[in-house]
Amino acid sequence: MKKFVRLLFAGLLTAIVLVLLLVLTPIKSSNVVVFRSLQDKQSIYTFTNHQTKSHPIIIELRKFPFPYKAMLAISSDADHETLRKFNLIHEFLNTTQMTPMGRGVGLDIADSFFMYNGSDLHAFVDDHHTPIGKEFTYFKGVGDTRYGAKIIDAYIHDGWLDSMHTYGDFNMKNHAQTRFTRKLAVQAIQALQAAHDKVTVWIDHGNQSNVDNFGSYGFSRFYNYQKGALPHSPYYHTDLLIPYGIKFVWTDRNSSVFGHQSMIYPVKLPDGREVWGFWRYTNGRERRPGVIRWLWSVDDLARQLSPKHLRAIIAHHQYAILAQHFCADNTVLPLPQNARDRLRLLAREYHDGKILVARTSRLLKYNVTERFLHYSVAHKNNQRIIHISAVRDPVFGTFTPTIDDLRGITFYTPDPDNTIIEIGNTPIAPKFIQKNSDDGIASSVSIKWYKPDTANYSLTQPGVW
Ligand SMILES: [Zn+2]
Repeated sequence: MKKFVRLLFAGLLTAIVLVLLLVLTPIKSSNVVVFRSLQDKQSIYTFTNHQTKSHPIIIELRKFPFPYKAMLAISSDADHETLRKFNLIHEFLNTTQMTPMGRGVGLDIADSFFMYNGSDLHAFVDDHHTPIGKEFTYFKGVGDTRYGAKIIDAYIHDGWLDSMHTYGDFNMKNHAQTRFTRKLAVQAIQALQAAHDKVTVWIDHGNQSNVDNFGSYGFSRFYNYQKGALPHSPYYHTDLLIPYGIKFVWTDRNSSVFGHQSMIYPVKLPDGREVWGFWRYTNGRERRPGVIRWLWSVDDLARQLSPKHLRAIIAHHQYAILAQHFCADNTVLPLPQNARDRLRLLAREYHDGKILVARTSRLLKYNVTERFLHYSVAHKNNQRIIHISAVRDPVFGTFTPTIDDLRGITFYTPDPDNTIIEIGNTPIAPKFIQKNSDDGIASSVSIKWYKPDTANYSLTQPGVW
């Protein structure tokens, strides 16, 4: 029995020495290659178990850009947008200037726009009973006369607008009627292309008169009105819209889930095309089935951005996209005080390096890259070389990423000074690289996120309300 214990002890000792050797021996050969994709994520985590958690010797992707622990976007619908309200809101959101609503919070929050106004509702869209006819749109009504076009073009280029809230506001009193036609889609896309307006996000809008919606056709009977992707419908347009560049679609499906591990899911359209759908937080938990407690007006922003919600996405390393209607109120100052206070709280979390606040299009693009990035690691002499080969996007297809596709991508490495990131076999220029100290897990190296931009881009135009 004693002999057996001695043998067992010797065996254990040998195993410990072997494991120690494995951990401490530097990897010399250049053919040790670790592949990573969503599919082999599991195997890499198994491999990293051989290491002490605080000092991994292999390269691993950090979920969010350093130093952030979560990522959040606010996705606002253009309903009741007027240029007056829009400018006040975005001077407060995007700049750090003194504004009529107080010091700006300097966050990267973009908005959505309408190309047309095809609504017959008797609604007001601003103070002094401004009628809905003055809603901020690219063209006047459903015609071809330009209204806010120049300013919308500029805001798309400057980053204050990044989402189409469909082609326009087609809400009608009679839900069986619509002013949308395919001709309007053709004209809209031609105008956006001519102005080099690159928009990747589409947000379905409004009541059943908005037949150009398409994200949820076939999901339930309610969505039968969504005819935008039906090839035999007179309202068909996704054959134009998707090639134009729309990649992400909010499909008019509500959600009470605030934080997500990933915001995106593939959507197959009736015409065979595929796009990414994405989630938005639109409502509180349903108390009774079918009774939705919408939380997406500017008066609900304080509840959306609650300290509890923010703490949760930080703790769980999650994404969040909030649905909003920044222009919902027709008050002189469009953001209520409690909304401004919570935006200041969000700004603090951003400046403390906890939550990366990013415009919707940037968050979604990052989400795709982070999920489907494919790379290999080679060890040569003292250097670790990360070869980025592709983003294997299962919806739009595999592509070789550019710097802009890789913004924020961060790899844990024990030696940032001797870690090189290459796209294919070309090292990324040092001006795009950022070396990061230990965040509690390891040191890391990043491809820099976009530079903060707090410029005031607001414009006015005579005759545009
Ligand atoms: Zn809307």
